[in-house]
Amino acid sequence: THTFMEVVQEVLKHGSANGVRTAIRADKKSYSLLQLIAASLDVHNILCSKNMTQNGIQDSSKGKIGTGFLHGARVGIVAKPSPEFVAGVFGTWLSGGVAVPLALSYPEAELLHVMNDSDISMVLSTKEHHENMKNLSIKCSAYCSLLPSITSIPSEINPQEPSSNEVTSSVSSLITEINSSKKIKGDDPALILYTSGTTGKPKGVVHTHKGILSQVQILSEAWGYQSEDQFLHCLPLVHVHGLFNALFAPLYSGSVVEFIPKFSVSGIWQRWRESYPKDASKNDEAITVFTGVPTMYTRLLQGYDSMDPDQQSASSYSAKQLRLMMCGSSALPSPLMKRWEEVTGHRLLERYGMTEFVMALSNPLHGIRKEGTVGKPLPRVEAKIIMEDGIETTTGVGELCIRSPSLFKEYWKRPEVTAESFIDGGFFKTGDTVTFDEEGYFIILGRTNADIMKVGGYKLSALEIEAVLLEHDTVLECAVLGLPDEAYGEVVCAIIVPKEDAKKMAEQDSKPALTLEALTSWSKDKLAPYKIPTRLYLWDSLPRNAMGKVNKKELKKLLGA
Ligand code: ATP
Ligand code: MG
Repeated sequence: THTFMEVVQEVLKHGSANGVRTAIRADKKSYSLLQLIAASLDVHNILCSKNMTQNGIQDSSKGKIGTGFLHGARVGIVAKPSPEFVAGVFGTWLSGGVAVPLALSYPEAELLHVMNDSDISMVLSTKEHHENMKNLSIKCSAYCSLLPSITSIPSEINPQEPSSNEVTSSVSSLITEINSSKKIKGDDPALILYTSGTTGKPKGVVHTHKGILSQVQILSEAWGYQSEDQFLHCLPLVHVHGLFNALFAPLYSGSVVEFIPKFSVSGIWQRWRESYPKDASKNDEAITVFTGVPTMYTRLLQGYDSMDPDQQSASSYSAKQLRLMMCGSSALPSPLMKRWEEVTGHRLLERYGMTEFVMALSNPLHGIRKEGTVGKPLPRVEAKIIMEDGIETTTGVGELCIRSPSLFKEYWKRPEVTAESFIDGGFFKTGDTVTFDEEGYFIILGRTNADIMKVGGYKLSALEIEAVLLEHDTVLECAVLGLPDEAYGEVVCAIIVPKEDAKKMAEQDSKPALTLEALTSWSKDKLAPYKIPTRLYLWDSLPRNAMGKVNKKELKKLLGA
């Protein structure tokens, strides 16, 4: 097998026999893999219909449409996290197209940038976004079609009840249809994902069918994903974390994925409490795995702090029962990791990934999860650190370079950028500065051009200083960055969001929640003198993108630098 669809097909074959769980839960309903595949075939029929030939764009640069096969045409998918979204992606793959998940949260200009940049020929959108998407599609000469609602798929296709020949025959007819996807080769592009845009305009990253398959295999193996698992999914589906870690890999492993339509702190705690009531037995549909970005865990803890003691005890108890909790997309501060462990008993599994290769480094499922590190290379992934002089180091600091079966094929329409991103041997340059600890665990020091500051001849890591400042009682969140300075090149500046109670106390005394003097004297025995911030700003919040990341270029602009 070399495509994810072929694997799905395998799962289907065996699933009907031994009741593989693979399913999606949304809006309190459960949709089996068979229903998802049936819905994908509906999408496939739409994409390759005569109607599409007449209305679709016949521009060869956008791929041929309406011939029963899309030959790499790009198809935008617009749907909230739902079974429809999954059917949109699978249907596009079955038809030989390239899925481009489009973010509903993007401002219109950004959405149009992505649609134009990826030369989308078609947009598949659910009913709620259809009017809006129709108007946007016209602006980029794309055809907009309705993504059919999956509730219209007959419920008798249910592998949980493999009762009759009827089911078997519908399975085999589905398999015959899927077999026509044999025209798709492993090297063919399957997905274009846009980077988070933390350091510039989002770039389109092309993933192949083969790459996607190896990634879901790697993740399932490393984190022990299994058919008994049920994931609570609260992440956007336009980035690798939500798409691979929390959707494709679980589906590949036969797990159940349950979508929470919108991130809600109380909703998540409640779902865990429902899963594991303290005085009753475990719920049949209990959540077993959760993955999130650091800001989600911060907010979950704030939610926890505002509960009454009984609810806190029920919440802690239920969270403890999950099998695995993971974190990534940006650095996990160690006070957050410690507090989470106190409250839930879970040592968060921190891992490191990137749109360009999905996941590469991870703390272990079994074994020591070390705070402040992102662990070691995942199975079949190779990582090395290259110093500025181009020499590899096993002890020093340098740029992390990755080789993996899941490396992207190219940056969409940016051949020069693609070429510049690789070194000899096919290792990809991540742009992140890293080092190892004594046991070979990787430590991310930050993005070379945003988090690494040059202060009077020293190279400093903003992430390292942030980690220390977060230990301060008053500090809820912080961002450290270098601001230009004539004498030193750059000076260390800290933007701090004080904790609510510290803010209230300070207001009562009409004093600032934290002063530079106080911070400096507190930092003295924790940071080398040249690492101590010399400028301090107190803000109410930090601007973050959908993945909870802070764009330091934007921060510098806001500070007038
Ligand atoms: P753009 O490339 O458009 O600037 P981006 O790099 O934020 O955006 P992503 O591909 O979503 O887009 O993010 C990858 C980056 O996220 C990595 O290069 C790294 O800097 C950061 N990152 C991911 N996981 C971690 C982690 N566990 N700790 C620290 N940083 C992380
Ligand atoms: Mg990037």
